[in-house]
Amino acid sequence: MEETAKPTNFIREIIDSHNLSGRFKGKVHTRFPPEPNGYPHIGHAKSICLNFGIARDYNGLCNLRMDDTNPEKEEMEYVNAIIEDVKWLGLDWGDRLFYASDYFDKIYACACELIKKGKAYVCDLTPDEFKEYRGTVTRAGKASPYRDRSPEENLGLFEKMRNGEFPDGSRVLRGKIDMASPNMLMRDSVFYRIKREHHHRTLDKWCIYPMYDFAHCISDSIEGITHSICTLEFENNRPLYDWILDNLGTYHPQQIEFARLNLSYTVLSKRKLLQLVEDKLVDGWNDPRMPTLSGFRRRGYTPSSIRNFCDRIGVAKMDSIVDLVVLENSIREELNKTSQRAMAVLRPIKIVITNYPEGKTEEMDAVNNPEDPGQGTRKVPFSRELYIEKDDFQENPEPKFFRLSPGREVRLRYAYFVKCDKAVKDPKTGNITEVHCTYDPATRGGDSHDGRKVKATIHWVSAAHAIDAEVRLYDNLFLKRDPEDMPEGSDFRANLNPRSLEVIKDAKLEPSLKNAQPGSRHQFERLGYFYIDPIASKGGNNVYNRTVTLKDAWTKAKSAVPAKKN
Ligand code: ATP
Ligand code: MG
Repeated sequence: MEETAKPTNFIREIIDSHNLSGRFKGKVHTRFPPEPNGYPHIGHAKSICLNFGIARDYNGLCNLRMDDTNPEKEEMEYVNAIIEDVKWLGLDWGDRLFYASDYFDKIYACACELIKKGKAYVCDLTPDEFKEYRGTVTRAGKASPYRDRSPEENLGLFEKMRNGEFPDGSRVLRGKIDMASPNMLMRDSVFYRIKREHHHRTLDKWCIYPMYDFAHCISDSIEGITHSICTLEFENNRPLYDWILDNLGTYHPQQIEFARLNLSYTVLSKRKLLQLVEDKLVDGWNDPRMPTLSGFRRRGYTPSSIRNFCDRIGVAKMDSIVDLVVLENSIREELNKTSQRAMAVLRPIKIVITNYPEGKTEEMDAVNNPEDPGQGTRKVPFSRELYIEKDDFQENPEPKFFRLSPGREVRLRYAYFVKCDKAVKDPKTGNITEVHCTYDPATRGGDSHDGRKVKATIHWVSAAHAIDAEVRLYDNLFLKRDPEDMPEGSDFRANLNPRSLEVIKDAKLEPSLKNAQPGSRHQFERLGYFYIDPIASKGGNNVYNRTVTLKDAWTKAKSAVPAKKN
């Protein structure tokens, strides 16, 4: 898939207008600021592609900044995952990997400056009192009794906070803003709290930590960010962002909000994803069913398919749910063009071609990719005993079933027309053990020689030559289109799809796949696109993940193997 031309959207219009007015002297500098408290997901990809894409198109720069101001929930494992995933998406922050925690000294100095200006104060209200004084959406707040402490007193107390002279939670530093503001965030927002918590980078240097709102705008300002792009829920934080930088009198980026990505049948809250991991409802953050970038990578998605998806959905000011099919189509379109075809049988049943000589093998020519003749052809061995899909045979065919059944002729792809004579059963169980057929030698290559037509073409693998593989098929992780739309008090996990993973242990693959490497992708004819899972295949196993089916779930036939007519 080609990358689309430079898209326009409301964010780019704002940047264009700044470039016209000269507000940032034509400079464009964005950042992607994840909090390292979880693995990046497809929603983050939207933000990553947006920020890096804007920097690229305006000849600007984009920083990667770990927003690590909240020590309780952050870990190096997440930092490493973020670095790996942004790299995997093909985006480059150059030498500008930053950590908000590297700015703790500067942020502390900013707090002191606001105190000196009479714009911040140390407040001793208990959490309950704090809540009471803050008011509600319909009731104005009232001034804290500590609001009018002198700058000298505040500076002294703030220093004692820093030096660990007060217990956790006993005092906070607050902005002296507006207790009557209709915007609750402006009611003397908290800038610093006391928290004796080990930090993954600053270790035990600090026992006070800045709040997100305080640290974020200052970090943006320090880095010379021009456009601080964030999701819509921060719209109410913008006045606070502006207030802090205005009152510091320092360089001031423009915050711009856009609608976060929501995907159907998917949860994108890190807290909930963490819960799935901790409760072992999935096999880690990189489970191929997870909407994380590491999960999509393991599933077989390519970076370009995700970038193209992000371009395609665009950015808007209105929240909506993007259909999962849009993402699936992005990888489908790409793999249709790039991936080699192969034949694989997931649920094998043996057929015996009774008029085919025993011990004989023929090499049939198979097209590697009908979309791209340049990918050439390969040889596929054909012999007397083959595997076909169980689904492709019915002893007593349903009315619309046109594939193999007694008396019926079908085409074996790239091979011959075969006619079914009978199903052979285990006399004890009555189960079908094999299906006997006869072939027409005049139809070699699968071509009719006399104008005779068959209604179906099915795939097969020679039993003697087949290689074994484990194949994992995935379905949506959640049953509901909007899994987070739950009645108050109920648990989103109740929506988990109990059949989101099906493991097939004894799939049969054509022998050309013997040398396929972990990380390679193939289309299994009629079954979908498959990826050799490099993680699950460690130690010499051969584990294929189905990345995506050939058609989207809405048009998919009831059967896992849709019938194809010729
Ligand atoms: P969560 O609420 O799940 O914890 P978050 O927004 O707190 O997610 P961050 O690590 O702070 O996660 O996000 C980093 C950046 O990615 C932020 O700029 C955030 O706005 C953006 N982002 C997060 N989720 C989405 C999403 N679903 N769609 C678009 N951008 C997102
Ligand atoms: Mg956040």
